[in-house]
Amino acid sequence: MEATGASEDCCVKVAVHVRPLIGDEKLQGCKDCVTVIQGKPQVQIGSHSFTFDHVYGSTGSPSSSMFEECIVPLVDGLFQGYNATVLAYGQTGSGKTYTMGTSLKDSYQTGIIPQVMNALFSKIESLKHQIGFQLHVSFIEILKEEVRDLLDPTSLNKSDTANGNTGKVNVPGKPPIQIRESSNGVITLAGSTEVGVGTLKEMAACLEQGSLSRATGSTNMNNQSSRSHAIFTITLEQMHKANPISGDGIPNDIMSEEYLCAKLHLVDLAGSERAKRTGSDGMRFKEGVHINKGLLALGNVISALGDEKKRKEGVHVPYRDSKLTRLLQDSLGGNSRTVMIACISPADINAEETLNTLKYANRARNIQNKPVVNR
Ligand code: ADP
Ligand code: MG
Repeated sequence: MEATGASEDCCVKVAVHVRPLIGDEKLQGCKDCVTVIQGKPQVQIGSHSFTFDHVYGSTGSPSSSMFEECIVPLVDGLFQGYNATVLAYGQTGSGKTYTMGTSLKDSYQTGIIPQVMNALFSKIESLKHQIGFQLHVSFIEILKEEVRDLLDPTSLNKSDTANGNTGKVNVPGKPPIQIRESSNGVITLAGSTEVGVGTLKEMAACLEQGSLSRATGSTNMNNQSSRSHAIFTITLEQMHKANPISGDGIPNDIMSEEYLCAKLHLVDLAGSERAKRTGSDGMRFKEGVHINKGLLALGNVISALGDEKKRKEGVHVPYRDSKLTRLLQDSLGGNSRTVMIACISPADINAEETLNTLKYANRARNIQNKPVVNR
């Protein structure tokens, strides 16, 4: 049996979320081949055993504690000026969209994004007398190495029959969205819609609008599966209001003002399965290849960040190898806190992909970030 241990000082947290067997798998007579060890963040499949920061499943720690343990620290960090990224990784059908709450379907109330929105607004409510807040939301997807704006009010909601897509398509003649890096290393998306939101309802409407726009294409594995990475980004700007009366009793509203800006990326990654298993061909195959490119680059970035020896030697982190890693550059490593949630199916027919997912997630556990506050 091979076992991999947890490292204490790791700034990237990796959690595993094991969903229950679902209808189709039960109908096919699938057996549960994944064991969550009681009282330990450990998961076993066949002769392989892995330890992560947290493991959530029907027999272990309930997924209701996932938000408290994995996500609340990132939301708190956002208020201190730290960027953060949540990545849902796994094969199609493993529960990524359910876990993130990117879809309006079943997990709309319990998914991570709706819970983040609730937590943000209740914190803002409790701090609004000392701090001025501004919130912006963007929602994009990366499909075939192209960035698409899911909140573009001018894009057409027409069927793209050639691709089998039914999501929004970018308006002809509109310049493509460009990923840019400012001189201080801040990544921005030129040409994408940033919606200013003042209320929970307005933010939820953005999630709803983008979810409806998200392009999906059918594959043999799951005809609602998405081959794109969907990235919901919340930017929080804070202006700390000065203490109105300074120590000597004289009003002081300029001296101690402080500005903080940080963003949280909530990423529902494309399915991690190999192109051949989804029966991809032609156009689909190309999309499969590009999706793999993003996930491959993510794996390489994570691996480069995690290798302290190599980093000391100044080894280059290959952020530029895909749109996904380029976009996440300022929120993955450096000034950031990252949580990867590896989603897995317990069904024996998925054992090979489940093992691949656990191995990939295991590589992510070695990242050591040095947080820097944006001021
Ligand atoms: P993915 O986004 O990884 O392709 P989905 O989130 O769409 O997978 O989940 C696939 C199916 O499994 C959906 O029908 C979903 O409702 C169900 N499912 C996923 N996670 C859970 C869970 N934790 N509990 C119950 N059903 C789940
Ligand atoms: Mg999905």
